[in-house]
Parts: sequence; structure tokens; C-alpha cells
Amino acid sequence: MEGQETLKLASVQAMVLEQGMYPASFVTPVTPNILVMELIIGWLYPKLMSTYGDRGNVICIKRRCEWRGIPVSILPLDQGSEASEFCQADVIVGGGAQDRQQEIVMRDLQGAKAEILKTQLDGGIPGVFTCGSPQLLGHYYEPALGQRIEGLGLLDMVSKHPGPDAKRCIGNVVFEITASPLREELEEMIGEPPVVIGFENHGGRTYLQSVSPLGKVRKGYGNNGEDGFEGAFHQKAIATYSHGPLLPKNPFIADWLIRTALEKKYQEAINLQPLDDRLAPQARTAMLKRLE
Ligand code: GLN
Repeated sequence: MEGQETLKLASVQAMVLEQGMYPASFVTPVTPNILVMELIIGWLYPKLMSTYGDRGNVICIKRRCEWRGIPVSILPLDQGSEASEFCQADVIVGGGAQDRQQEIVMRDLQGAKAEILKTQLDGGIPGVFTCGSPQLLGHYYEPALGQRIEGLGLLDMVSKHPGPDAKRCIGNVVFEITASPLREELEEMIGEPPVVIGFENHGGRTYLQSVSPLGKVRKGYGNNGEDGFEGAFHQKAIATYSHGPLLPKNPFIADWLIRTALEKKYQEAINLQPLDDRLAPQARTAMLKRLE
């Protein structure tokens, strides 16, 4: 792959889009040596796992790519998918689910599908996983009622629901990303320590073993309301209890995912074209004022 030419073409893609010209032929290779960058978002079990606005994460990645002239396709990875499709995603998004849906997902996410997903994430494919899906990436999740659901064991952690009468962890959450090297990479992008504003709603409590926490809670419950940790970080996979407005509220994380996915796919340094994000910091400042 010709690195320079791919990069140049990415800027041309963005310019063409800005000027309102976007011929379909533009997404195909224009010469045998020049590839137009594009991304495939693998969306885990969209019908079973997408609570509390989690689809917002998918939409946000897609739109922020398209505003830069990077075509995106969304690939559902679910019961109807072949295991081989799990290899095609450049970035993976997994949302939350009720206990019952989590159990259905784990009945399907076995064998080759499970192995491929683990290999992809272990190999540095970036992803964002919310609430119910990180519970399934850990060793197990014990639901409010019924049998323990065995997870993929990718994240060294366990999750347990204390039972149907236990208080749910609901509300706005603020946490500072501490996981390295994510923290440093985000700080370089935004010029300040990365603070995430989110919303959580879970009954399960997660207890980390050797996996790194994603961050430190400033406001809210985080993993369990006890140890002050929020989420987990493994290779390039972000696991969090913060639901689907996560990326629109914290667009620098969306850009980190896009950049990381493109760098992995095209094996070269990527500089994303800046977008007009003036509204997001205003919304963040207002929320922080209200919460802290
Ligand atoms: N069922 C899980 C719990 O209550 C996950 C909930 C969710 O994804 N919002 O902890």
C-alpha cells in the first residue's frame, strides 16, 4: 500500500465531500496502487444489545467518518452471521442488554465466533463495549435471577448482580480516563486530561482482576460503587458502563477509535481532519457544572 498516496487521497475525499460532490465511483480504487480509506463497523447483536441509546455510538462513528469523506459500512454480527464475518470488522461496537438478552447472545457467541472475536480484540482491533457487553467479555456474569452466564474470558474480571431487590446503579457519571496508553493518546489529542461524561444504568457489579481499569470515577457508581473504578481497557478495547451517548458526548473517544482503526487497517500514521465540534465542549461544560 502506498502510504503517502492513501493519506493524500483521504484529504481529497474530505474536500470532495465538503463541496457536495461525492460520486459513487470515488469509493472504488482509482488506480491499482491507490486505495480510498473506508471502515467497517462490526455491531454486536444490534437487536438484542442496544439499550439506553447505545446505537448512538455506531451513528457517531459513522457520521464522523462520513464528514471526513471516509465511507463506512455497518456489519451486524449476530445470530444470522457466519463466523468469518467477525473477521471483517475494523472497529467493533457492543451495547448493553437485559440479563435475558445477554443469555441469548452467549448461546450464540460460542465456538468459532467467540474465538475470532477474542483474536480480533487481542490483536488490537479497536472497540467500544457498553454495560452488558463488557459483562460478557469477562469471565462470567451472574444475573439477578437464574444461572451464571459464562463469558469469553477476554477481560480478566467478573460481574455479579446482587439480586432483583438490589438498588440499580443509575445516573450521570463523570470519570477520568487513567488507562495507559489511552490516557496519554487522548491527552495529546485534546490537550488536557481526558474526562468522560456519561450515563449508567446497571444492576450488575463488575470486579476487575488483572485487567486495567478504564478510569477513575469522579461522580456516579462506575463498576460497582465501591472501588472507584470505571470500565476496563484491554489492547484497544474500551469497556465501560457508560451508555450510547458516550461517543457524541465525548467525541475525542470516537476520533481515537476511528484513527486507531484506520492505522491498524492501513498500517500508517493517520491525521484526522478536525471537525467543527464547538457544541460538544459547551454541552460538556454545562454538564460538568451541573454534576461536579
Ligand atoms: N443486565 C445487565 C445489568 O443490569 C446490563 C444492563 C445494561 O446493559 N444496561 O447489569
